[in-house]
Amino acid sequence: MPTSPTIFWFRRDLRLADNPALVEAATLGDGAVAPVFIVDPRFANPAGPARAQYLRASLEALDESLGGSLIVRYGEPSAELLALARELGSTCVVATSDFAPLGLRRDEHVARVLAGEGIDLRYVDSNYVVAPGIITTKSGSPCRVFGAYRRAWEMTTPPSPLEAPRVHWREASGVGLEVLGDASARVRPRYFGDLPDGPPRQTWRAGEVAAHERLADFVTVAGAYGELRDAPGEDATSRLSPFLRFGALHPRQVIAATSRVSGGDRSFATEICWRDFYADVLFHNPDSVSNVLQPAMAKLRVDRDEAAVRRFQVWARGETGYPLVDAGMRQLLDEGWMHNRVRMVVASFLVKHLHLDWRWGAKWFMWRLIDADLASNQHGWQWTAGTGTDAAPFHRVFNPTLQARRYDPEGIYIRRHVPELASIEAPQCFEPGGGGLFSPASYPAPMLDLNAERLEALARFAQARSG
Ligand SMILES: Cc1cc2nc3c(=O)[nH]c(=O)nc-3n(C[C@H](O)[C@H](O)[C@H](O)COP(=O)(O)OP(=O)(O)OC[C@H]3O[C@@H](n4cnc5c(N)ncnc54)[C@H](O)[C@@H]3O)c2cc1C
Repeated sequence: MPTSPTIFWFRRDLRLADNPALVEAATLGDGAVAPVFIVDPRFANPAGPARAQYLRASLEALDESLGGSLIVRYGEPSAELLALARELGSTCVVATSDFAPLGLRRDEHVARVLAGEGIDLRYVDSNYVVAPGIITTKSGSPCRVFGAYRRAWEMTTPPSPLEAPRVHWREASGVGLEVLGDASARVRPRYFGDLPDGPPRQTWRAGEVAAHERLADFVTVAGAYGELRDAPGEDATSRLSPFLRFGALHPRQVIAATSRVSGGDRSFATEICWRDFYADVLFHNPDSVSNVLQPAMAKLRVDRDEAAVRRFQVWARGETGYPLVDAGMRQLLDEGWMHNRVRMVVASFLVKHLHLDWRWGAKWFMWRLIDADLASNQHGWQWTAGTGTDAAPFHRVFNPTLQARRYDPEGIYIRRHVPELASIEAPQCFEPGGGGLFSPASYPAPMLDLNAERLEALARFAQARSG
């Protein structure tokens, strides 16, 4: 007669190896574990088609590694867990801790409800090298600048990655993964208008096996990361962000695999540290999902009228007439991903040349990115908009043409993502829209004058600062 299994609640840790919470679940009772993923409409509906598609692929891969035992439920998590526990006679649920604002509120609520029914709920580990809330300044307050956080972070010694535990999986009834495809339930803000709504054309491999293969490939080129990571035309960054987002890999595993080959170059580990830092900042400042971290910047005047909505949509479609901006925005539409350097350039363009609200851009990114992560995204945007923790100063306005010349000198990235420019060599491809011999008729003319809009942004900034 089977004993009652421990319920393992998968969330952002869709893997078996180096999953301390799963190891703990496997040590309880006789080691039988019922693995469940709950599609919570409050989380699923604001996710765009790209993330929904990638989550589905990640869950399919997880189910395969569980021999088809993944139980998928749809609804409010405390009710679903309670129902499952009653069905299986379980008295314990284990999950990896979540630190995002909504996740924390959900987890407190679930813990209360289950405790009321005599069910033990344990949150173990985190999805970070160092969990939010652990690193503080000497006086015990949260770190407000990255440098201080990184110095403390580098002094920590993460435990070695764990093997996947031996588990006897228990099955139970559930729903199909089609519940993730309900596009009609998704909530689109008005300014998205009729912007494309389908999933990206490119499908990304998902799941733990693919994650380890990608990590192994990256390790072979990681030695050049510091030198090439800012060049969007090179395949020099890890592209591990979707795997890290859904926990097919733990960042501990990434650090362990890359530290051996980086030859003392810390630039890659520093990027993983930014991920931890932003999660820490969001943990301490849950309102920073939508409120600026620097109060004076809340006074910055942004445009919200119909002309602003039209400018937003031109930007989102990648039709600004500025090739690097357009290449980035089209990469986002086509692939559901964008190179970090270009994320900064397009974000700066939206805030400082188009005078739009950074939250509009952040929302579009959350909608289109398969690696969309609230902490990294909102704070990546706040950094670029000059409103976040040790943000780029507002008066540093990226010139997209100069950025293209510097970081994509042969126009490889631009020509890859903007088909109208595919046959136009550098340097003509950096400024193709101004008319003349090399202007392709199909590529839009620049939508604005960079210098005039830069001066307008600086004037608005001066006005905000003077109150
Ligand atoms: C406006 C803006 C929005 C962003 N939105 C997201 C987002 O929604 N999700 C997301 O994962 N990253 C986001 N980033 C950070 C960064 O652009 C991506 O993590 C990176 O491009 C992913 O590619 P990669 O895996 O090849 O990165 P690599 O360069 O190989 O870096 C390795 C890992 O480190 C982490 N990382 C790297 N750079 C950063 C950073 N600046 N901040 C936080 N973590 C970082 C990521 O987990 C990444 O996978 C954003 C950056 C900006 C400027």
